Amino acid sequence: MYWYCVAGTTEWTGKPLTLEHVSCNLCRAEEASAYCTVNDFQIVRCDSCGLLYTNPRRPESELPDIYSEKYYVSQNPSTLGYDDYCSHAEGLKRSFEKHLELIEKYVRPPAAILDVGCAFGYFLEVASSHGWRPEGVEVSSFAAKEAARSAGATIHTGTLSSAHLPGSSYDVATMWDVLEHTFDPTAELAEVNRVLKPYGYLFMTVPNAGSALARIMGTHWYGFKKVAEHNYFFSKNTLRRMLNKTGFALLQTKLGIWPCSLRFLVTKLEPYSPTAYRIARKAVNGLGLGHMIVNFRFIDMLVIARKEGDPLREPISSG
Ligand SMILES: [Zn+2]
Repeated sequence: MYWYCVAGTTEWTGKPLTLEHVSCNLCRAEEASAYCTVNDFQIVRCDSCGLLYTNPRRPESELPDIYSEKYYVSQNPSTLGYDDYCSHAEGLKRSFEKHLELIEKYVRPPAAILDVGCAFGYFLEVASSHGWRPEGVEVSSFAAKEAARSAGATIHTGTLSSAHLPGSSYDVATMWDVLEHTFDPTAELAEVNRVLKPYGYLFMTVPNAGSALARIMGTHWYGFKKVAEHNYFFSKNTLRRMLNKTGFALLQTKLGIWPCSLRFLVTKLEPYSPTAYRIARKAVNGLGLGHMIVNFRFIDMLVIARKEGDPLREPISSG
């Protein structure tokens, strides 16, 4: 029995929690070696395939508690959630404009697009303005209500699996910084595969645990610092194998330009240096530059994949 004692979140859930042990989600191996410990959570590396994952971890039954309203106005955004999600709307929408420019090189609207983990529906709003037929899936009932109100699109509240969407229905699926949060990413990608039309496209962003930045920053890397909400940490290799296992071909990974507000960018400093964060925040607020949009070289993987077949039934082999 553990207390869920990540800094700032004790009051969040306010209850004792039994963490669960899990096997590797990619190859199902039980054997894994300790990789690092962050905020009392252990991250392990699968001895067979190399996938990094949090183990033990909080159970999926905690989902409603984690992604409550507090997640979007977090008191401790360096470890969990956002300081004020709404205040980042303009930067996020510009980012989604960039993503759509890329998507439309592959598929042109009008077409059906499903945003898995749509949060407040900002991507759906932008997609709708481009002529797409957007739908969203959102596990947070709080965020789903916001999305339904602001985006005017159909929002399926819950997980993708619980939505029971019809198969072969969407031309494009998107997952913006979502896969690392899921509890069974293989099942999630297999379900995305099922609802996509043949040769439909999947576009997503995911923190790159194999990047030079992740290696240099070690336990201070922002992907690990969010261990209270991140269950998996993908490299290009482990992600490619999971995509292949679930019936996708990985076409390309790339770095994208990420336009975001200076205020949002400053919040990313906090995990690395609280002092630098406070100084920068004071300077940005004092100069009234918080809403200035800057083009930040996005350090996550921007992934382009295409449905090529059905998910494999067999576990992936080691190597
Ligand atoms: Zn494995």
